Amino acid sequence: MINIILLGPPGAGKGTQAKVLEDSFGIVQLSTGDMLRAEVSAGSDIGREADAIMKAGQLVPDGIIVGIISKRLDDDDCRQGVILDGFPRTLPQAEALDTMLEEKSLKLDRVLSIEVDDDAMVERITGRFSCSQCGAGYHDKFQRPAKEGVCDSCGSTDFIRRADDNAETVRARLEAYHKSTKPILDYYGEKGLVSAVDGMSAIEEVSEQLKTAITRS
Ligand code: AMP
Repeated sequence: MINIILLGPPGAGKGTQAKVLEDSFGIVQLSTGDMLRAEVSAGSDIGREADAIMKAGQLVPDGIIVGIISKRLDDDDCRQGVILDGFPRTLPQAEALDTMLEEKSLKLDRVLSIEVDDDAMVERITGRFSCSQCGAGYHDKFQRPAKEGVCDSCGSTDFIRRADDNAETVRARLEAYHKSTKPILDYYGEKGLVSAVDGMSAIEEVSEQLKTAITRS
């Protein structure tokens, strides 16, 4: 069993790399952003509360996030281990995670930090879109589908863009990241759990560095 945290600002490639790590290690990606977006689409109580906060690029209250993750960790598909993507984002969330793991007799193996240049993130994020059917990710400039308007993976012609992937919200999200998430790097750093990886390298190169860091842990 391998449990890891994937850290990095919006646009660092966490989602892309999580998919690679899922395949390589047989573990599942738990993205709190994806979970919240599912709640918003379903129109649940949590979704209604989270919607406006997410649109503003702010952080959803810790209690909501911790509850969602704790419940999800009990699912059968998490038995081989998980990649936490987008969680924890604050120190209280990191502390709640420690308590939760202890209660569930689980252990955190490594915290992977994808380090990138903020200015490049705005261009990366504002250009990204994905297939509404299979979730495959694309980019206006860096990764267009082979056939214009058709998903390479499943052939669908329906694509979506995240409501919060606009230049203004991206700046707020980057700011929120630096303000709230950096302290958790120090928290895990003191425990000797952090491996930093250069996220400005090619996707495959970043994957290799992440895999090496995990197998060494
Ligand atoms: P992401 O898909 O990880 O970029 O998350 C999208 C949005 O969901 C963030 O801008 C936050 O509003 C919210 N969110 C996701 N994960 C968390 C978290 N761990 N704590 C607080 N808010 C979160």
